[in-house]
Amino acid sequence: MCPYKGSVRKGVIGLTASERLINHLRLGPKTAVAVHDPSNMFYLTEGYTGEGLVYISEASRVIVTDFRYTEQAERQAPGFRVEMIGKGRNHNKILAELVKAEEITELRVETNYLSVDSFEALRGAVGEEISCVPLNGAPQQLRQVKTPTEIVAIRKACDITSEAFNAILPKIRPGMTEKELQIELDFTMLRLGADELAFDTIIASGENGSLCHAIPGSRTLKNGDMITMDFGAKVDGYCSDMTRTVALGQPSEEMRMVYETVLRAQSMCEDALAAGKVCSEIDKLARDYIDARGYAGRFGHGLGHSVGIDIHEEPRLSPNCEDILKAGIVITVEPGIYLPGVGGVRIENTCLVKENGCVPLTTADKQLIIL
Ligand code: ZN
Ligand code: ZN
Repeated sequence: MCPYKGSVRKGVIGLTASERLINHLRLGPKTAVAVHDPSNMFYLTEGYTGEGLVYISEASRVIVTDFRYTEQAERQAPGFRVEMIGKGRNHNKILAELVKAEEITELRVETNYLSVDSFEALRGAVGEEISCVPLNGAPQQLRQVKTPTEIVAIRKACDITSEAFNAILPKIRPGMTEKELQIELDFTMLRLGADELAFDTIIASGENGSLCHAIPGSRTLKNGDMITMDFGAKVDGYCSDMTRTVALGQPSEEMRMVYETVLRAQSMCEDALAAGKVCSEIDKLARDYIDARGYAGRFGHGLGHSVGIDIHEEPRLSPNCEDILKAGIVITVEPGIYLPGVGGVRIENTCLVKENGCVPLTTADKQLIIL
């Protein structure tokens, strides 16, 4: 990640992310929050990408870090005071000073992120009289609904992936290895403006296509292969995620059928995606359709996941997620069919949920492309 990238500022209705957190938690003057998860630190400071911790109370916004990140913190998070650790004054010591100065009685911490040792050290430093209670994923809940500024970044990342896909197509040739294709695709995303990759690119060709998370290897591409490419870019701290399966030469009748089924399931779910819908119901649409077409048990993963600062966020389109979709959620729709020993097809768009529908932010063609 580019450490000096301009910060993503000003969310909805003029509130900063830290103000949204304070409102969300109804934080009183005696309660404060300490955040250690880098994605939550980035979100709450609207731009800080270094290490350390973030302290938020009604009265203060503080980044506690070491010499390597102090100047960076000041640039990336101008609304925050920066406290530098030093000899005899570590992160927890500074946290204890902050809490004491503000007469805080309750400190909310990420018990789901800190190791047991780190949590014990923190609790020991702030003292018995202060109760350390779980933050319960409050920043993650806020992160579900994206601000217009965040959507701009995700859209940019999606544009880069769609453009990279179109640029790579003429380069796909028999004899090239999966690994070579992966390098070309990664390089293309970076050349088109990605700050970094959102995750390790997946390339699965021919019979490898039945492995949902295949690691690109030495297999050479052959005529008749279906090639699944799952890749994403990160721009201004936000991810995109897309998958396309293309055919190198004429595919078999069987794989054409598989493609048509996945495409239909994907489009059907995108058409159904809207605020107010239950996540599991969208997943069920794809699953029932794929099962009915004779591929029961061949679509073994969830239909989709939210995307933002992290590549996998909540809520998810899965059989187990009963969350109601809200406008501003950015979520993938990615059904697939995997036939062991034969191959696989997955089609994935990153979509923005709106009041009455959704907008696919991935714009590359979904129809079967035969190279
Ligand atoms: Zn993906
Ligand atoms: Zn995905």
